[in-house]
Amino acid sequence: MSLVNAPVLVLNQNYEPLNVCNARRAFVLLERGKAEVVKDGERALRSVARAFHIPSVIRMVYYIKRPRPAARLSRREVFARDGFTCQYCGRHSRDLTLDHVVPRRRNGPHTWENLVSACKPCNHRKAGRTPEEARMRLIRAPRRPRATLATVFWRHIERHPGWRPFFPGAEHEHARRADVAAAPAGSGAGLQRLAAAAE
Ligand SMILES: [Zn+2]
Repeated sequence: MSLVNAPVLVLNQNYEPLNVCNARRAFVLLERGKAEVVKDGERALRSVARAFHIPSVIRMVYYIKRPRPAARLSRREVFARDGFTCQYCGRHSRDLTLDHVVPRRRNGPHTWENLVSACKPCNHRKAGRTPEEARMRLIRAPRRPRATLATVFWRHIERHPGWRPFFPGAEHEHARRADVAAAPAGSGAGLQRLAAAAE
């Protein structure tokens, strides 16, 4: 990756993460006095005359209004919302599939409210039917998750641990996702560990 494309975390004036831009864009914001450097990166861009540090984190000098964060609908986010647990049998697994509660062929929408995590056997058993037809029960009704900035920026935080301090709730988000990632698929070890930790 070229250095001018290196990712830079942009904070709002109140230090809340705003977005991720590339170094080229960050330099423009800095040069125009619209942003200041909060944290330098490790790499430097050298020209004939001098070396420029590639910033890792910059902060806008004025406040930018923006809508509340919304979780992006994706397989991974649905699995994370469901705690990597099959929503029919409750099995904890890394090997999950995405199930449309009302099947797509029955005009079931691709929305948070109609998508759940299902293990392969449950998905196979349910096939193209509704839960009622398949006589299967959801362990809870699927909802749109409440998103924190740590949820929305998770992919970036994972890749850039140095950004973690700028995200309140990042540790909780990490624990929520890492517990399952460490557990062997379908063993339920993650759940057992969670239960043990709660005791
Ligand atoms: Zn299942």
